[in-house]
Amino acid sequence: MIYLDNHSTTRVDPQVISAMNAMMEIEYANAGSTTHSAGREVAARIHQAIQTMASCLNIDTETAIDELVMTSGATESNNLAIFGICLHPRQKRRQVVSVVSEHRAVLDPLERLRSQGFEVVLLPVFPQGHALVGQVDLEQASRIISEETALVTVMHSSNEIGSYQPIGELSAICHRVGAPLHSDATQTVGHEPIQIEELGCDLMSFSAHKFYGPKGIGGLYISSQSDTVRLHPQILGGGQQLNRRSGTINTAAIIGMSEALRRCHETMITSNTNDRELRNQLWQGLQSIAGERVRLNGPFLNGELRLSRNLNVEFQGIEGQTLMLKCDSLCMSSGSACTSADPLPSHVLQAIGLTADQARCSIRFGVGRFTTSAEIYQALDVISKALKSLR
Ligand code: PMP
Repeated sequence: MIYLDNHSTTRVDPQVISAMNAMMEIEYANAGSTTHSAGREVAARIHQAIQTMASCLNIDTETAIDELVMTSGATESNNLAIFGICLHPRQKRRQVVSVVSEHRAVLDPLERLRSQGFEVVLLPVFPQGHALVGQVDLEQASRIISEETALVTVMHSSNEIGSYQPIGELSAICHRVGAPLHSDATQTVGHEPIQIEELGCDLMSFSAHKFYGPKGIGGLYISSQSDTVRLHPQILGGGQQLNRRSGTINTAAIIGMSEALRRCHETMITSNTNDRELRNQLWQGLQSIAGERVRLNGPFLNGELRLSRNLNVEFQGIEGQTLMLKCDSLCMSSGSACTSADPLPSHVLQAIGLTADQARCSIRFGVGRFTTSAEIYQALDVISKALKSLR
């Protein structure tokens, strides 16, 4: 099995597993149990883990405990950001602005808000062939975002075509009219340096299993400096995490997420170079196999506008599902794993101008820390044979 689906999830790093095991076997007390020293020790370990994550994300470690809420992953973080801001009892504004190519974990909560009377505006992105393919048009954004806007939510980088959004510029537009900016940075955190405060992001979501941590744990950054952020809690109960997300915290998973992020930051420069080389090796190989009949979807590979581990290509005239069935030793995907049960062609590829048929003939690859060059050669061999038999 050759795993080339690192956008959907990543293998948990063995060092992360050891750190988590120690928490489950030895330091298993509830971090909320302040009545005994075992609980207090776990709480201190969690505090330290959150500070480690804060320093990776360039957040002030002193305020980190107020600014990072631990959730079950980016889906929950996005829901908390969107509903938490828009459904706050003192929220007067009734418009939400986002982008057509967002993940369903943003689009579906927005659909719910629309049904509750909010005006939801989904901005288009630049099409294939444009130098800024996949990015939102800032001029349009600044025309739409106004003093009626309760929230702007725009992903940091695309889980399908790897394109970055101009978050810094968007935050300046938002702040001129007092609207908070949330960014779903699930595909960027752990892979690229992020200066949350410099970007001017008020809220940011991330998920540990995208950066070699465990599934079912993630976080939402909530700026304590922003005067536009008032968050209405969505999960009520024991009042943990300063009442913003009740429920006993998943201590082993938080330690795992922190260790995973720390390791990513320790090795970020080399990992990025490796990912880029492997991704480019794959693309060059595909071009020599399929020539004109394979087309790159999304930004150029040699620029700075695309995640270094991402590749998305269209095999003209060959359905992605059919090709994947022929290549059953390869793990790859035809879009977001969260929507792979959904037979519809990718809304992201259609947003950059592909037809439904072209989107159906497209495959997304994601290389990662555990991918080797030998595996890329093997994968190319498998794909080459499959294409020959299909054609
Ligand atoms: N947002 C983006 C951009 C993603 O790629 C994903 C995972 N596919 C999510 C949100 C949801 O993350 P999770 O499943 O960990 O909640």
